[in-house]
Amino acid sequence: MTETLFTGISQLVTPASGPQRGAAMRELTVIENAALLVRDGLIAWVGAEKEAPSTPETHDLGGVAVVPGLVDPHTHAVWAGNRLADFEARVAGVPYETILAAGGGIRSSIAATAAASIEQLVTLARPRLVALRHSGATTIEVKSGYGMDFEAEVRMLRAVQVLSHEFDLLPTLLIHVPPTENREDYVRGVCDTLIPEVAAESLATAVDVFCEAEAFSVEETWRIFAAAQAHGLKVKLHADQFHAIGGTELACWMGALSVDHLEASGPAQIAALAASETVATILPGVTLHLGLPAAPGRALIDAGAAVAVGTDLNPGSSPLFSVQMALALSVRLNGLTPAEALTACTVNAAAALGLSDRGSLSAGMRADFLALHDPDWRELPYTLGANPVRDVFVKGVK
Ligand SMILES: [Zn+2]
Repeated sequence: MTETLFTGISQLVTPASGPQRGAAMRELTVIENAALLVRDGLIAWVGAEKEAPSTPETHDLGGVAVVPGLVDPHTHAVWAGNRLADFEARVAGVPYETILAAGGGIRSSIAATAAASIEQLVTLARPRLVALRHSGATTIEVKSGYGMDFEAEVRMLRAVQVLSHEFDLLPTLLIHVPPTENREDYVRGVCDTLIPEVAAESLATAVDVFCEAEAFSVEETWRIFAAAQAHGLKVKLHADQFHAIGGTELACWMGALSVDHLEASGPAQIAALAASETVATILPGVTLHLGLPAAPGRALIDAGAAVAVGTDLNPGSSPLFSVQMALALSVRLNGLTPAEALTACTVNAAAALGLSDRGSLSAGMRADFLALHDPDWRELPYTLGANPVRDVFVKGVK
């Protein structure tokens, strides 16, 4: 048994365990002059330092704020190639359709990723995951989806598997871009071949679909979800990014872990999420990078939904390598309060991945926590462009 008492905590700030919905997202516990006892990687005790149990080993954090480790519930951190020319063209006013027609856009990421080996994908993704961890992410979801052909999709997931030795990663199979021809064969192959293979080899914990007017239909999403659930995989959805075509309602009805994006969600989608156990995951990096409307974070919380925030780290629509910055942007762009943003990036983001063992600093939870540079935790939602996170502890180890 290893036991360490962390002291020198100016403020220990945490939501309660379990996903928090609506007004409860604002209810944080703040303990001044706190201590935290970690036993074998789990939190054994939390309270005022003067009431702490005595232990042989103590670690003085030097009088700074401590919050739970952040969870990034939505990334596409594995890709090859880059979209720098696309970015330059887009900000000069070139329409996306023209960029696509010239061989750029998502199809250039697909071509480069499909041509890369597992080793190359690992080498490219590692520094992105390091950046996310330095920004406070102790658990990170990573999707496939740039593979198109099944072999390349599996290669992306194997790259995530390799990187899982260095980071706490949740792999998701993403059915992202419909083929330009033989679409029916593709969907059937996803259901009958790809999902069974991924499930049999435990290469993903969930299946995600891009449900959109230009991507997969609600009916196709339903078939893919049914196949995923039949093979014991959880489901989650990219929906309402540009048009609300019914994906959110389907996902809530089928018990999806989360519906992500939601920029185009209206009252019906907000009500469906608020009435379900499905987490509403919003992605402010996309709003910033593409200059598109923001997801209705404020309205979702006011309706009683459980909202999470992620980076959506990807080369095309969100080159955001900081989960702390995603948290800070959700306050500016989506109308979350600082307290709600912390809950969104901790227990609620964990719930969006089906995890209930982390995200809150309470007894029995994983000892994943951050020591900030500052005694006041509000530097975390406030700071833009510098890193307020000093130390990242995973299972009590820096
Ligand atoms: Zn995404």
